[in-house]
Formats: sequence, C-alpha cells, structure tokens
Amino acid sequence: MSKVTNPLEVIDYCPVCGAELLFGQLVLKHGVDLLCSTACFIKHIGAVVITAGDHERGDASQHENDPTD
Ligand SMILES: [Zn+2]
Repeated sequence: MSKVTNPLEVIDYCPVCGAELLFGQLVLKHGVDLLCSTACFIKHIGAVVITAGDHERGDASQHENDPTD
C-alpha cells in the first residue's frame, strides 16, 4: 500500500463496458458516472447514432406496429 501517484492507478470503472479508468485519463462525466469513451457515454444516456434523415424513409428494420393486429 505504498503507491501514491502511480500514473496507471485505477480510480474507477466504466459502468457501461467495465473498462478501467486510470488516473489522468480523459473521461466523460455524466452525473456521478465516469465513462471511458464517447461510445459508452452515448449508450449510458440512451442515445443512438443514426444517419440524419434516414429514419424518415423506410421502416424495414423496425416493426413496432403489427399490421396483422
Ligand atoms: Zn466504457
């Protein structure tokens, strides 16, 4: 228990992917949570990446409304 300023000291873990967050590492903060990357941040807040305008045409990949009902 003698290490004090080890640059590779793990200070937290990403709640999304579980990656180690090291002292001095650039992370994203959301509330009390620290995320290791923008990808994990996006997942954490529930956002999704889409192509702008793509959701307006075609719904082949999503069937929320069943026409047989
Ligand atoms: Zn992560």
